[in-house]
Amino acid sequence: MRKPVIAGNWKLFKTKSEALELIEALAPQVKGAAGVEIIVAPVFTVLPSLHGAVSGTNIALAAQDVFWEEEGAFTGEVSPGMLLDAGASHVIIGHSERRQYFGETDATVNKKTKAALKGALVPIVCIGETLQAREAGDTFKVLETQLKEGLTEITAAQFAPVIVAYEPVWAIGTGKTASDEQAQEAHAFIRGVLAGLYGQETADKTRILYGGSVKPENVKGLMSCADIDGALVGGASLKADSFAGIVNFQQ
Ligand code: PEP
Repeated sequence: MRKPVIAGNWKLFKTKSEALELIEALAPQVKGAAGVEIIVAPVFTVLPSLHGAVSGTNIALAAQDVFWEEEGAFTGEVSPGMLLDAGASHVIIGHSERRQYFGETDATVNKKTKAALKGALVPIVCIGETLQAREAGDTFKVLETQLKEGLTEITAAQFAPVIVAYEPVWAIGTGKTASDEQAQEAHAFIRGVLAGLYGQETADKTRILYGGSVKPENVKGLMSCADIDGALVGGASLKADSFAGIVNFQQ
């Protein structure tokens, strides 16, 4: 009942011509994946060019970040309306790299998520524990805090379109994937927290993606877990063959 989502986070990679080349190679390889929602997140500057390139395909566009004000004296920022205007339908919020290098907090995640929803962008809200937190036995505590603070003052009706991404920080870009059991345990916990916040029905409808070194070789195992509804993919989304191999996990 939950349509799987496979989203590629291109991070700070791909110029306009490289991005167009990647989409050109990817689109024919994923066109048969009717049961999967496919999203790619290029850098801001590439969104308008890719908008044309993905039209008529089953690929949607996400931005990698958003600011919470619509306009004003906020040098360097990009608003929800501007992202929509550039062709994005989704936006990644609170990625661990933004938390680690750019001062993103649960409070800013909350402001950005509210602004994205108000601006009709679908937020992909990222949460996840560090290795230190996992080793200290604090994984669930961290996930619960990130969810509750990141979703403060968002009602069940407003929350409905939100996609949650569980990305254990120790598994991002490291080649270390959480085991299927570790990932499932965290996803089931997250769904339980969402049920507490918004009721079981909303929680059961929410797509919760796993992120952290997902590859064509490990996607099937992860996707066979009851509470894993897709993947947020970094490194393996930068090549058409490997991303298509993940998107086509059902084949
Ligand atoms: C990510 O950037 O969200 C990610 C999960 O990266 P990778 O797949 O490279 O670990």
